[in-house]
Amino acid sequence: MDLGIAGRTAAVAAGSAGLGLGSAKALAAEGARVAICGRDPERLAAAAGQIDGEVLLIDVDLGHPESGRSFAEQAIAGLGSVDILVTNAGGPPPGTFENTEIDAYQSAFDMNCKTMIEMCRVAVPPMRERGWGRVCAITSVGVKQPIGFLLASSVARAGLTSFLKITAREVAADGVTVNSAQPGTHWTDRVAKMMDRPDAGKSNPMGVCGDADDFGAAVAFLCSEQAKFITGTGLLIDGGQAAGLLD
Ligand code: NAD
Repeated sequence: MDLGIAGRTAAVAAGSAGLGLGSAKALAAEGARVAICGRDPERLAAAAGQIDGEVLLIDVDLGHPESGRSFAEQAIAGLGSVDILVTNAGGPPPGTFENTEIDAYQSAFDMNCKTMIEMCRVAVPPMRERGWGRVCAITSVGVKQPIGFLLASSVARAGLTSFLKITAREVAADGVTVNSAQPGTHWTDRVAKMMDRPDAGKSNPMGVCGDADDFGAAVAFLCSEQAKFITGTGLLIDGGQAAGLLD
């Protein structure tokens, strides 16, 4: 299926590996011109080699204040516009109530909520003016079913999910959709650092880990022309991990 986004411009945060890279690859394969960011120029260059077409590489540490704004501004300057924004960043370290220090909540909020809000504050107003735009936030299954060993992450992403829902409704009439893609357990560098592959597969009833390229294909669909009537929602891509009934 042609997703109708050839020639569109896409900014994919933390696109140098994992789920961000899977998303950048899928959008570029549909003909979008892509910008990605990361902290390591070598990793960025290696990622660009896996993405179709010319890729704008932006060196930004999303752990720093104002980094979300900087990424979005540099993407607009380099691509001429941003039609599609995929918000993403590294994930907070694991921690439970017992061992999560108060500063860890602030760090998680900065990187996994505030930074994403900053990107939207820069990228969404021009989308509204042009009458077309797509925001897809990479969040987590933890926004549906909080993850006990990722307390700070779950707290920060719950706040972001509220922001996305409210913003989606506010900008809907201007042709801009705002959604999230909610990963369960996908075999990326992050998951490899936290658990063995056999353990990772046990998190869902399929008994296997998700694939970053499959995840990226779902993100590309949410950013497609055909997805124009889908907004304010979160798509679980989790192999059935979340067990609740409510969306
Ligand atoms: P990953 O570690 O494999 O890749 C993250 C990418 O972000 C890397 O390219 C890394 O260099 C970059 N990055 C990390 N910190 C950065 C920073 N401060 N500034 C700029 N770039 C930075 O991670 P992933 O598995 O692709 O996860 C992406 C996001 O999705 C994370 O927030 C993660 O917590 C979340 N998530 C992942 C899973 C999963 O199963 N993989 C599940 C739920 C949520």
